[in-house]
Amino acid sequence: MDQQIPRQTGTPPTTVEQTPGQAARMSPDTLAVHAGRGGLRQLGAGVPPIDRGAFNPLPDVDVGGASYDSLAAGLALADGQVPVYRRLWGPNAARLEEAVAALDGTKDAVAFSTGMAAVNTLFKIVADTSKRHIVAVRPLYGGTDHTLARSPHGIEVTWSAPTMVHSALRRDSGLIFVETPANPSMDLIDLDELVRQADGVPVAVDNTFATPVLQAPARHGVTLVIASATKFIGGHGDALGGVISTTPEWAAKLRAERALAGNILSPDEAYMLHRGLQTMPVRVRAQQESARRIAEWLTEQAAVSRVLYPGLPGCDPQGLVGEGRQMAGPGSMLAFGMHGGYEAATRVAHSVRLITHAVSLGGVQSLIQHPAALTHRPVEDSAKPDGDLLRVSVGLEDAQDLISDLEQAVAA
Ligand code: PLP
Repeated sequence: MDQQIPRQTGTPPTTVEQTPGQAARMSPDTLAVHAGRGGLRQLGAGVPPIDRGAFNPLPDVDVGGASYDSLAAGLALADGQVPVYRRLWGPNAARLEEAVAALDGTKDAVAFSTGMAAVNTLFKIVADTSKRHIVAVRPLYGGTDHTLARSPHGIEVTWSAPTMVHSALRRDSGLIFVETPANPSMDLIDLDELVRQADGVPVAVDNTFATPVLQAPARHGVTLVIASATKFIGGHGDALGGVISTTPEWAAKLRAERALAGNILSPDEAYMLHRGLQTMPVRVRAQQESARRIAEWLTEQAAVSRVLYPGLPGCDPQGLVGEGRQMAGPGSMLAFGMHGGYEAATRVAHSVRLITHAVSLGGVQSLIQHPAALTHRPVEDSAKPDGDLLRVSVGLEDAQDLISDLEQAVAA
């Protein structure tokens, strides 16, 4: 993977075309460690240097102007052009983009300051076209739901059941937006079936819960694969970011809009997320093993009314996980309901000792939170998760220690 040109000199990506070929040959574990790290030997560096520069020296006015034109259009620089200004392009963000695209099996990816920055930039692009109708399937992360419910930039939204997407489409539909597994219900959507229904309308999938380790939406014909990199990609709860893996055409639009919105990923966070990505496959699999045990244990608890986890037969009626049709495993996110309703659920959230009562997910620390009161607070009542529901992000602690903590919290 070292055949690529050094990027730290400020040369924007020109080698993303190599990535899909590499992705076809290498496993996610290898890509996670090496992708986006080309050219380090030429730099004499073992890891990517962090380039905090806000600007780059311009060779002359005409080259500077031409470089600006390329970047403002979201395109790669031509030979001899320079990056100009970090709101337009940054080497550390570009390295992460290359790595995530390799893992997602897309030709390109675009990195943003947060997952919500990524989602909102996508919606802005759709709004700026004549096709500003979006078909969306609930549940979605509360921030995404809230954004769509506000019809930003004149977008019109039709909420649809996953099987009714085709009939919800209009002549001016520009995007279909779903999450699978969905936050927080863990509902699964059959992506092959969704893409068939889409009839050519671009499909965007928030793949944050699954990660590219367990699910590759682009292989099912999905055009835009979204990740809150804050979660499993970073994996340690200490950096925010968002990435959209997609085609070169969409990537150019996203970069052009990002340059105007000013929401490019910062060098330090890009470095941290790129570092976290190296262990993502190992973390995802280890966390998943604990989540399986915890989900099974929860199903046996008298105080627990239901457990939502794609590894349980009832939660995967289409065999998307069980038969391996779409996911390589059920992941490490789960939710459960308490017979005692809101009171009992909040008591569990307040009683955990090892598990942290906090929002966010996908990191090495296990977290528990009450979606209706927190992550999905802004969602309108008819679509809000039930008050008895708790969501758990299973981390890397010992599974038995986590079960013991939940046991005392559920007993409380
Ligand atoms: N998508 C999902 C599924 C999420 O859970 C979140 C945040 O929790 C986001 C998107 C937004 O990401 P960020 O918090 O990085 O803006």
